[in-house]
Amino acid sequence: MGIATVNPATGETCETFSSLTDAELEQKLALAQQAFLEYRQTSFSQRATWLKQTADIVEADAERFGKIVTIEMGKPIKQAIAEVKKCALVCRYYAENAKNFLSPTYTETDASQSFVAYHPLGAILAVMPWNFPFWQVFRFAAPALMAGNVGLLKHASNVPQCAIALEEIFTQGGFPPGAFQTLLVGADKVAQIVADDRVKAATLTGSEPAGASLASIAGKHIKKTVLELGGTDPFIVLESADLEAAVATAVIARLQNNGQSCIAAKRFILLEAIADRFQNTLLEQYRQLKIGDPMDELNDIGPLATPSILTELDQLVQACVSQGADVIIGGQPLSDRPGNYYPPTILANIPPGTPADTEEFFGPVALLFRVRDIDEAITLANSTSLGLGASAWTNNEPERDRLIRDLEAGAVFINGMVKSDPRLPFGGIKRSGYGRELSVEGIREFVNLKTVWIK
Ligand code: NAP
Repeated sequence: MGIATVNPATGETCETFSSLTDAELEQKLALAQQAFLEYRQTSFSQRATWLKQTADIVEADAERFGKIVTIEMGKPIKQAIAEVKKCALVCRYYAENAKNFLSPTYTETDASQSFVAYHPLGAILAVMPWNFPFWQVFRFAAPALMAGNVGLLKHASNVPQCAIALEEIFTQGGFPPGAFQTLLVGADKVAQIVADDRVKAATLTGSEPAGASLASIAGKHIKKTVLELGGTDPFIVLESADLEAAVATAVIARLQNNGQSCIAAKRFILLEAIADRFQNTLLEQYRQLKIGDPMDELNDIGPLATPSILTELDQLVQACVSQGADVIIGGQPLSDRPGNYYPPTILANIPPGTPADTEEFFGPVALLFRVRDIDEAITLANSTSLGLGASAWTNNEPERDRLIRDLEAGAVFINGMVKSDPRLPFGGIKRSGYGRELSVEGIREFVNLKTVWIK
C-alpha cells in the first residue's frame, strides 16, 4: 500500500499521494539546513509567539482537523477532536517553559564561571505512527522547535492528509519556511534520510522492528535517537482497590482509540478475591458500548485503522482461544459490514504459553489473568519484554510502594490509567524503547548539552 487515505470505516480509497521524488526530497533537506542557520538564532520569546499562535490555530479548527483524523484512521470523532485540542496544551506548555528548561545551569568549579548550555542540534527527523496522528507529532515538534531545532516529519503512510495539515498549521502559526516540513515518503526512504549529513538526530514512535531498523542506521552514522515503541501494559487490581473506579477506568484504558494505544491497559492482572466481580462488571460495561461509524458522536468504538491490524489482532485472539482461553464477549471480526470492525473482546482463563504472554494486542481486546498475591502480580506484570507503562490499583500504602519500586516500566500510575501529560516525562524501558518525551527531560533529548568553562 502506498501513501493514501483509505477510510477504515468503509474500505474506500479516498485519495492517493505520490511519494517525494529524490529531487524534491533533496530540496526539502537543503531548505531545512538553510532554515536552521537563521532559526537557531531566533529568541525564545519569538518561538513562543509562533507556538502560541499554532496552539490557537489547532484549537480554533479542532473540528475540521478531527474529521481528517477520523477519516484517515477511524477513531471516534469526539476522541479525534479531543486529541487535536490536546496539542494546544503541549504548545502552550513549552512556549511558557522552554526558556527556563534550557537556561544555562551553573556549577562551581576551578573556573571563574562554568555552566552547561543547551544548544540546538539542527534538523531532527520524526518518524511517526498513525494512532495519534496529531498528538504524537506535536509532542515531538513543540519542544524541538522551542529548542531551536528544525523538524522533518515522516508520518505513517495511511495519514497523509494529517501530515500535510500539520505542516500547514506550523506555517500558519508563523514559523519560517523550513522550520517544520512534512516529507511524504514511505518507510523505504527513512534509511537514506537518517544517513544524510544534514539530519542530526531522529526519533521514532512505532513498532519494534521499525525502531530497531532506524536505530541501527542512526548508530552506524553516530546519531542520537529516541524510540517510543510498543507496550503491553499491565493493569493490576489488588484486594483493597476501589473496584468500581478500577473497572470504569479499565474500560477507557483498554478501549480508548479503538484499543490502538501504546499505553492502553492490555493485561488485566486481578487478585483472585476480586476477579469475579471485576470480570462481571467489566462485561456489563462492555455490553453497553456502541460500535459503528466513528463520525457518529453516539458511537464509542470505530473500526481498526487498517485491514492488516484487524487480521493480526484476530490471529492473536484465535491462537489464545485454540489453546484454551475463554471468550467472555466478542472474539470475532464483525463481518456484517464493510470496514475493519473488531468488537470489544474479553478473554479470560488464558493458559500459559499463548501470545497473550508476550505479544501486544493492538485493538479492543482485554486479557484477564488471575493471581494469588502481589508477588505473583508483579512477576506476571514484568514477564514480558516490554516496559512502557503500568497501572496498579490499591489503597494499601506498603503495596503501593512495592508496586512503584518493582514494576518494570517507564511509568507507574497508582489508582489511575496511564496517560501522557506535557508536565511529566513519557517513555519506556526494555524493548519499549529509550529516551523520554515531554517535560524538561523531553526537551533536553535533542540539544547539544554544551559544557562551558571560563577561566
Ligand atoms: P510502524 O509500522 O512501526 O509505523 C510507525 C512509523 O514507522 C510509520 O511512519 C512507518 O512508516 C514507519 N516505519 C515502518 N517501518 C519502518 C522501518 N523499517 N524503518 C523506518 N521507518 C519505518 O508502527 P505501527 O504498527 O503503525 O504503530 C503501532 C505501534 O506503535 C505499536 O507497537 C504501538 O504500541 C507503537 N506506539 C508507541 C507509542 C509510544 O509512545 N511508545 C505511541 C504510539 C504507538 P509507513 O507507515 O510508511 O510504513
